[in-house]
Amino acid sequence: MSTFTAPKGTYDLLPGTNSAEFLAVRDQLSAPLRRAGYGYIETPVFEDIKLFSRGVGESTDIVTKEMYTLTTKGGDELGLRPEGTASVVRAALQANLHKQGNLPVKLWYSGNFYRYERAQKGRYRQFSQIGAEAIGAEDPALDAELMILADDAFKALGLRNYKLLVNSLGDRQCRPVYRAALVDFLSGLDLDEETRRRAEINPLRVLDDKRESVQAQLTDAPMLRDYLCEDCKSYDEQVRALLTAAGVAYEQDPKLVRGLDYYTRTTFEFVHFGLGAQSAIGGGGRYDGLSEMLGGPALPSVGWGLGVDRTYLALEAEGVTLDLPVTTEVYAVALGEEAKAVLFGKVTELRRAGIATDLAFGVKSIKNAMKSADRSGARFALVAGDRDLAEGVVQLKDMTSGEQSPVALEALVTTLKEKQL
Ligand code: AMP
Repeated sequence: MSTFTAPKGTYDLLPGTNSAEFLAVRDQLSAPLRRAGYGYIETPVFEDIKLFSRGVGESTDIVTKEMYTLTTKGGDELGLRPEGTASVVRAALQANLHKQGNLPVKLWYSGNFYRYERAQKGRYRQFSQIGAEAIGAEDPALDAELMILADDAFKALGLRNYKLLVNSLGDRQCRPVYRAALVDFLSGLDLDEETRRRAEINPLRVLDDKRESVQAQLTDAPMLRDYLCEDCKSYDEQVRALLTAAGVAYEQDPKLVRGLDYYTRTTFEFVHFGLGAQSAIGGGGRYDGLSEMLGGPALPSVGWGLGVDRTYLALEAEGVTLDLPVTTEVYAVALGEEAKAVLFGKVTELRRAGIATDLAFGVKSIKNAMKSADRSGARFALVAGDRDLAEGVVQLKDMTSGEQSPVALEALVTTLKEKQL
């Protein structure tokens, strides 16, 4: 143990513990996107702080309380990214991706995000997301596509114990009317100072308040659903019809608002039943106004972010074990200096032939070296001493059956290939 430990709210990914699983989760969560025309994008982990205050929202906890901020030596005010959408839209606008071809511009990303939250299981200060954004098209099929791709990804991983919640937040026509009705309703409630302030900046977010005391007062609150204009209503119906046609189950949740300010119309969340309070394994929605808020043209868009950490916890909760690639297929043990040199050459050859091979390093007794071979999980051990080499062979040991037989050095690669490594 060193003097240092990972900062609060963060943890290390380690081989043999969780790192291979994380790679597999990231791979599986993004696989459906890669099959659906989404191109990979990577943006910096820090951005101008104003990108987030403008793009994510001045009233959100994410910006007001949770952002990691820093002033550089040059005086720039930067923030570690708390989410991906604002950065991706910024990058797409900067590179004029929306002018280069067909719309929507479809992008996916994988990365770490930072929020100074109250750390607990499932809620971290650095967490990993796979995200997708489809920029520049208003089409119910696009909203449906993204939800279907997320659902396919969770299902492919083996998750079953979750549900998809869907809501519509209306648009520029109908939301202001609803907003006024809600403000009127909220003004008659007994709310604390902070909630009242939040209600002034973005009253819809009060609906999202998790506290029982607040929720109890909201039973008779006006519901956005009853205020949706014809366009929004029909859009929402089309999205849901497409989900149903694709065999994706969902529940309508009229109170689903989500923490970010930029959402319009479709909003959704995947909630897992085995995770306690931190139950959202992914979420997203349509954000038709964001591009303009960032100084770009009107580019109606939709996207989501899926939580890699929570997906991992959900897999654990459901007892799903992932099919992980074998790390070491063959483990070589040399007995003596000369044997080591020859075997080292063979190890390189096997690796170049695509067989995952490792070797006992350092000076070890044969007993310890065989223990390492065992721990490596390899299917075969290669054991060679000077006498074997004089005969031009190595001993090939099947680690499961314990059977051992000599194989000619020249024939080693083909022999192992025949064993389907
Ligand atoms: P959001 O940007 O808040 O909609 O988050 C999208 C997804 O990222 C959530 O559904 C979670 O799965 C995950 N997520 C968000 N915040 C955290 C956090 N602090 N720790 C772990 N996962 C998180």
